[in-house]
Amino acid sequence: MAKHTESRALRYAVIGAGMAGILAGIRLLQAGEAVTVYEKADRLGGTWRENRYPGLTCDVPAHAYTYSFEPYAEWRAYYATGGEIQGYFEKTAEKYGLMPHIRFGHEVVSCVWDEDEARWTLGFGNGGTATADVVIAASGVLHHPRMPEIPGLESFAGRAFHSARWDDAAQLDGARVGVIGNGSTGVQIVSALSQRAERLVHFQRSPQWIMPVPYFEYSEEQREAFRRDTALIDAIRYDKDYWASINRFTQAITHVDGPEIAAIEQLCLDNLETSVKDPVLREKLRPDYRAACKRLIYSWSYYDAVQRPAVFVERQRIAGIEPEGVRMADGTLHALDTLVLATGFHADRFIRPTQVLGRGGASLDDAWRVRPTAYYAIGIPDFPNFFMLNGPTGPVGNFSLIDIAERQWGYIDQLLDLLRRGETRAIAPSHAAHADYEERRIAAARTTIFGSGCASWYLDATGVPASWPWSYEAFADAMAKPVLADYEVRAAALA
Ligand SMILES: Cc1cc2nc3c(=O)[nH]c(=O)nc-3n(C[C@H](O)[C@H](O)[C@H](O)COP(=O)(O)OP(=O)(O)OC[C@H]3O[C@@H](n4cnc5c(N)ncnc54)[C@H](O)[C@@H]3O)c2cc1C
Repeated sequence: MAKHTESRALRYAVIGAGMAGILAGIRLLQAGEAVTVYEKADRLGGTWRENRYPGLTCDVPAHAYTYSFEPYAEWRAYYATGGEIQGYFEKTAEKYGLMPHIRFGHEVVSCVWDEDEARWTLGFGNGGTATADVVIAASGVLHHPRMPEIPGLESFAGRAFHSARWDDAAQLDGARVGVIGNGSTGVQIVSALSQRAERLVHFQRSPQWIMPVPYFEYSEEQREAFRRDTALIDAIRYDKDYWASINRFTQAITHVDGPEIAAIEQLCLDNLETSVKDPVLREKLRPDYRAACKRLIYSWSYYDAVQRPAVFVERQRIAGIEPEGVRMADGTLHALDTLVLATGFHADRFIRPTQVLGRGGASLDDAWRVRPTAYYAIGIPDFPNFFMLNGPTGPVGNFSLIDIAERQWGYIDQLLDLLRRGETRAIAPSHAAHADYEERRIAAARTTIFGSGCASWYLDATGVPASWPWSYEAFADAMAKPVLADYEVRAAALA
């Protein structure tokens, strides 16, 4: 078979106009490529469009949660609010000319690979179809709200809603509000409402490790300085202490008996000891599992919030929900007007329920029957020219997912070059390479802090930590250059 080496114009379909899809779209436009971004909603932004709850902030310093190519001088504080981040993504997409390339209201319900044509056909919820040589799945991780299974939930007479489906008509000021769940979202909502609600009950099963972090606002003079000199922004984004803390954090995750995790635990325990005065409340808030086993909570305000007179921390098991409020296992009733379900997301769905059919009709549902997985979080055997951003087994933790997505894009772009140069028409990781990766990953994952015995969304359905189990540097190294021997690149070369 002769190898075809003429360069090839490709058509790209990006699924999702959140942070990752915007990144892919902009990078492809910059390279002069033909790209269409399909977004099911009527606005871009993903996470930051859907989550509008009071207190929403990104827990990565604002200047570090931006694209590397688009620093931003306007952040009002060290940590940005969700609304500000949404505005940043909208401005960025406009600035880079991406908006005309986004098809809003286009939910991708199917992707079917045609081996003869070496291209994908996308089917949309509105009935249309489109074809593309390459699919970039940027459909998000924390995207499908998880509703709690509590008997009687539907009977609640007030307003009950998931935190990612905020009900603007709900009573908050001077009202009796319950918040179920104490991940980052529940903690942020309680912090924000503690001085607004007449009574605020925070329902939590297991207390969180709360990492104290600085919080300060930028003055107009500082913003003006950022505008004049982006080196000042870079100094925050690339601050060596910040990156050292990320590296320490991933060391902590991967070395459960190491000094880094011990230091994190000590910091959080000192925070608990010095911040919470009432010994009974302090014990209620003391975690009984390893720090960072669940996503570590970064907060400058939660311990203050729960000590306010209107706030009550409830640790009992919820027996059920009644029209008046939440009934606890000991019979106590918390009468409520509003109930916020900060109960997280189905973090194992990724692009599903979209039906994805690859080579020979291989289905993604079958490939992911045990767990969602991808070779280095990027691609799946039998699904050629199909690449994921923030896909399964990628790094999760207290660092910027924008940096993760940019590194993944750098890797994917190198694979795309092979297609652009016409060296192959179809590229996918080999089964052997993927199996080897998964074997090593699962073995390492079991020994991370995520596998140290707590329940969390980091675990897959079999109890194995679902994420990247090695250091941040190992991820950066892996993304720097694909190992092409692990890919089936020549099988589909043009005759
Ligand atoms: C409350 C909350 C707080 C967070 N805080 C942080 C933080 O502090 N730091 C951090 O780094 N990360 C944080 N994250 C993670 C955050 O999700 C990522 O940082 C980032 O926004 C993910 O971008 P994404 O584009 O991968 O996914 P998303 O933002 O989820 O965007 C995916 C997009 O794809 C669209 N889509 C999905 N399926 C389809 C389909 N079939 N067809 C068409 N369109 C589709 C969706 O509508 C959405 O617009 C947080 C997440 C949440 C929920």
